[in-house]
Amino acid sequence: MLRTKAESNKEYCKLADRIYHWADKIHVDPSDIRIRHMKRKWASCSTRGMLTLNWDVTDLPEELIDYVIVHELLHLRTPNHGKLWKSFMRAYLGDWEKKEENLKTFAG
Ligand SMILES: [Zn+2]
Repeated sequence: MLRTKAESNKEYCKLADRIYHWADKIHVDPSDIRIRHMKRKWASCSTRGMLTLNWDVTDLPEELIDYVIVHELLHLRTPNHGKLWKSFMRAYLGDWEKKEENLKTFAG
């Protein structure tokens, strides 16, 4: 979807606000946040703590936006999808598996 610069800034701020809200809760500190067009990916996270999100995330329902954000932020604490990551996901999002399934119905 094409956006004007003002719209893009607004979307960026909205998403960044939400990311920092969750980062606070999870006690992680992302070094930077970028939103760009990505193929076949909702988001990624570098070892240096930089979060990159796909623009398409801004079109998702709110609970799925939270899923994507929390998923990536937790990688700042644990790099894989192991037991620890799953227990964090449950603690912060509850039935996260359902959200993950739901997310698959949206094209990334
Ligand atoms: Zn992951």
